[in-house]
Amino acid sequence: MKSGLKSAARMAFLVAVVLLLGIACAQGKHDAGASVSAARETIAASMASEAPMSKMAAAELGAAPRINAARAMQYTNEVTAFGARPIGSANHIKLEQYIVSHLKGDQVADDAFIADTVEGKFPVRNILAKFPGTKEGIIVIAGHYDTNYPLRNTGFVGANDGGSSTAILLEIANQLRGKKRDGYSVWLLWTDGEEAVKQWSATDSLYGTRHLAEKWQKDGTAKQIKAFLLADMIGDADLNIERDANSTPWLEDLVYQAATKLGYQSHFFARTTGVEDDHLPFMKIGVPCADVIDLDYGYENVFHHTPQDTLDKLSPKSLQIVGDVLLQTVWMVDAR
Ligand SMILES: [Zn+2]
Repeated sequence: MKSGLKSAARMAFLVAVVLLLGIACAQGKHDAGASVSAARETIAASMASEAPMSKMAAAELGAAPRINAARAMQYTNEVTAFGARPIGSANHIKLEQYIVSHLKGDQVADDAFIADTVEGKFPVRNILAKFPGTKEGIIVIAGHYDTNYPLRNTGFVGANDGGSSTAILLEIANQLRGKKRDGYSVWLLWTDGEEAVKQWSATDSLYGTRHLAEKWQKDGTAKQIKAFLLADMIGDADLNIERDANSTPWLEDLVYQAATKLGYQSHFFARTTGVEDDHLPFMKIGVPCADVIDLDYGYENVFHHTPQDTLDKLSPKSLQIVGDVLLQTVWMVDAR
């Protein structure tokens, strides 16, 4: 069973390579000028005369875009440069403005409220950017932008934990902007209040997503969500994405298929871990979720929630891998 899946994925990858080569070839000819346009028409005619393509091959023609990793890294640098960004802080407000300023012209919505916590009341603001598609239904890609509250005065800057997830969504927005999707609508969600204010528990954590899941259950949005993809701590130069036992198995499988299609599977699912993260409130109300997270940040996760979580541990290559796999997964959910 397992090896059968692998060879199927390899075949799909080969089909993708052949098609991509064809597209690259056609684009190169297009740039070369009018003398080759006749050749292009010949290729188009020969393609049109072939037997109808399989659903998978057809989906490949609308291949998922690749992110600009240098730009994603630049966003990570800029977000991290604000310093600690816990809920209730001036830096948090600056980051909210930074995120929204990068979404000019997009459909932006807020889910803002006051959270009552063991450390007092805090404003919490989930930020959404909606990119409409032709198909009925929504795919959410989420990541938190707040940083650890208890570490707020320790020099903690959350380059990976908070920084990388904020940045990858900003870059994914660049890839979705300005064209109507031929697939489900994609909603990008910058979640807030993910971190505990004192000690992680069911009631001290996930403030933003618990609020939003309740709202989306009441207003019927939850039923329209085909997949909820979560990115957290995805910038580690030594990238090891967990298989999350608390996520939806078929969607985890699809993430792995997307990674395999792109040749990135060695960074995925060597370990299985049950992760508590922003997807849990949505899992509880029946939304299919996949948490894409690397909880092996430094030897035995030694940099997690410490002032060692700094930019020098991160790599644009890791942002490339995760950004591309998330987008590839979206395109594969479209084709299901
Ligand atoms: Zn954290």
